[in-house]
Amino acid sequence: MKALSTIEGEKISMDIFQKINEHEQVVFCNDESTGLKAIIAIHSTKLGPALGGCRMLPYKTVDDALEDVLRLSRGMSYKCAASDVDFGGGKAVIIGDPVKDKSPELFRAFGQFVDSLNGRFYTGTDMGTSPDDFVHALKETNCIVGVDEAYGGSGDSSIPTALGVIYGIQATNQALWGSDQLDGRSYSIQGLGKVGYKVAEQLLEAGADLYVTDINPQAIEHLSEKAKKMGAAIKAVRSDEIYTVPADVFVPCALGGILNDQTIEALQVSSVAGSANNQLLEMRHGQMLQAKGILYAPDYIVNAGGLIQVADELYSPNKDRVLRKTKAIYDTLLSVYHYADEQGITTGEAANYFCEKRMEARSRRNSFFTHDKRPKWAVRN
Ligand code: NAD
Repeated sequence: MKALSTIEGEKISMDIFQKINEHEQVVFCNDESTGLKAIIAIHSTKLGPALGGCRMLPYKTVDDALEDVLRLSRGMSYKCAASDVDFGGGKAVIIGDPVKDKSPELFRAFGQFVDSLNGRFYTGTDMGTSPDDFVHALKETNCIVGVDEAYGGSGDSSIPTALGVIYGIQATNQALWGSDQLDGRSYSIQGLGKVGYKVAEQLLEAGADLYVTDINPQAIEHLSEKAKKMGAAIKAVRSDEIYTVPADVFVPCALGGILNDQTIEALQVSSVAGSANNQLLEMRHGQMLQAKGILYAPDYIVNAGGLIQVADELYSPNKDRVLRKTKAIYDTLLSVYHYADEQGITTGEAANYFCEKRMEARSRRNSFFTHDKRPKWAVRN
């Protein structure tokens, strides 16, 4: 060990092992013929095989890519535990420009690397990749989820994600006001994309008042027309104004890191419940929200509907079961709020504690996932 620190190359390996300390396995994938450079990180298979999407981004350095895949795969372990699906946390990143560097062969090569993990890792679309890309990967491995129904997948996962956000808002309203009614309250929605638009539609249908923002004016126009047809109206505001409007609930459905020193100072809402990943810039921002009396619905619990749907594919897809499990987001959130209140901790801390307890309890029975310990439900492999 001592000698390693004196050899430059070996010192790097030591640093890498420190970096991946919490992770079970990290695989660097290199395929010269297609130009594939990817990293697969398996954080934990204590609850079952690792599950997580694959991002494609033009990372500036391999370190940036590694940092991202380690952080995201860890987050997936918590998200799986919170949603009570029998999967662990994993994630993959492909280093490349999604506009210029994609090819069917590249995704087939990626599929081969996934297959080499022998059922320890299941993946699908994430930022920069689409379900169609994974149709190519599917030719090489069964460990792909979230493709279109025509290819045996479960289709658009933003539908259950949006539904989960609605259940999350209802639970949050219940905790704050003793009633989970959506109407009679106002909501400020940031981002009217796949998830945000559907959430906005459901809130409008419930008779709620909406402030909305999106950098894409077409999204606002569409929603505005929809509202008009329903005899309702929305208030469209500038991107930076969404933090200052006097709504009851802030519903972030666009970017991460939007709960930070500046925005929390400006917020005039009673709660935050939305789909965006990694909403808190830092964990301490959960304390800042709490000090300001704003109830924060931990993002990875609220936005788990899509994960629930892709995980369900591996049990042989069943839409009723997905709905039932997505509905459970309501009760999970209420338990988290109750525990946070009881212990005097933030809701983010309570959510992490809740997930760690689940992982710990299961790990006493499972060590880690291997192919021959494959559960009966893994029907596709
Ligand atoms: P999307 O790309 O379809 O929509 C994002 C929307 O936000 C777009 O309309 C975009 O124009 C808008 N936007 C971007 N920057 C903005 C800004 N500064 N101000 C206002 N609007 C802005 O993405 P999506 O699938 O709807 O996902 C939304 C969020 O939810 C993301 O953070 C995503 O990671 C998270 N999420 C999505 C799913 C899912 O099933 N799609 C699941 C879990 C989490």
